[in-house]
Amino acid sequence: MDTRFGELTVADAHVHFFSQRFFATLAAGLPSPPSEGKLFDVLGQSLPFEFPDKDPETLAARWVGELDHHGVSRVVLIASVPGDEASVAAAARAFPDRVIPYFLLNPKAPDALERTERAFRELGMKGLCLFPAMHHFHVADDTLKPILEEVAAHRGIVFVHCGRLVIGVRDKLGLPSPFDMSFARPRSLEDVASAFGAIRFVVPHFGCDTFEEFLDVAATCPNIYTDTSSSNAWMDSMPEPLTLPRVFERTLEVMGAERILYGSDSSFFPRGWNKDHFQTQLEAFDVTPEQAAAIFGGNLVRLAAG
Ligand SMILES: [Zn+2]
Repeated sequence: MDTRFGELTVADAHVHFFSQRFFATLAAGLPSPPSEGKLFDVLGQSLPFEFPDKDPETLAARWVGELDHHGVSRVVLIASVPGDEASVAAAARAFPDRVIPYFLLNPKAPDALERTERAFRELGMKGLCLFPAMHHFHVADDTLKPILEEVAAHRGIVFVHCGRLVIGVRDKLGLPSPFDMSFARPRSLEDVASAFGAIRFVVPHFGCDTFEEFLDVAATCPNIYTDTSSSNAWMDSMPEPLTLPRVFERTLEVMGAERILYGSDSSFFPRGWNKDHFQTQLEAFDVTPEQAAAIFGGNLVRLAAG
């Protein structure tokens, strides 16, 4: 892609794969869940989205068409509800050179370890996503050890959401979001990241409102990365409001360009890939062309290669 830094090979470390199963899982949490045939009629009343076909390959092809249109080379697609890993696995099978599959896991579910084993051994997953505030656990809990050992054995990536958590699509549907941020402190990642040196941990959105604590932890753990995704609206809620250029500058100071991954947090159609987001970030980063090449693509490609 032609940018102010010259020609960049762009890869996006944070895109949600809103499969049919994703929507069905959300709808099951509504006060009166719709039948399968009525699923999108009901959801369409609150969500102005283009809904996907049942087979994930069609949605994957839609995404790849979108990436081609914008000149994006590769993308992390995240199965964004527990139990949906087969959807992103199918997307990655259909487009192995374009899609890097991650899946969301509730590590407290009785089949969590089994799911993780299957995901890495059979489904070719590259990353596992944890939302401690959503599922009420600490990353350092003993129950996670065998799961992390499995990820380490496959040199996988673990994405850990820290700080405030807002899931727009849940809010739009009026679904309750009983998230507890006390579980989502970067500090709880410190010993885990040291113990599991083979795992690359990615904390999205610069750690959100735990930004300074996150940087503190990242400073001592070279296997912790961040992604730049979302509107980063958390910046406005800080005691001293931050700007994107300032956040970039601080992160670069502490972590260096090699541990920052561009992410858009794109998710639904017809919006598709969030080009405006990309342009905003491109403007806000005061870096050399080499650093830009790493942040906007090179780092993710390196991580995905294992
Ligand atoms: Zn996201």
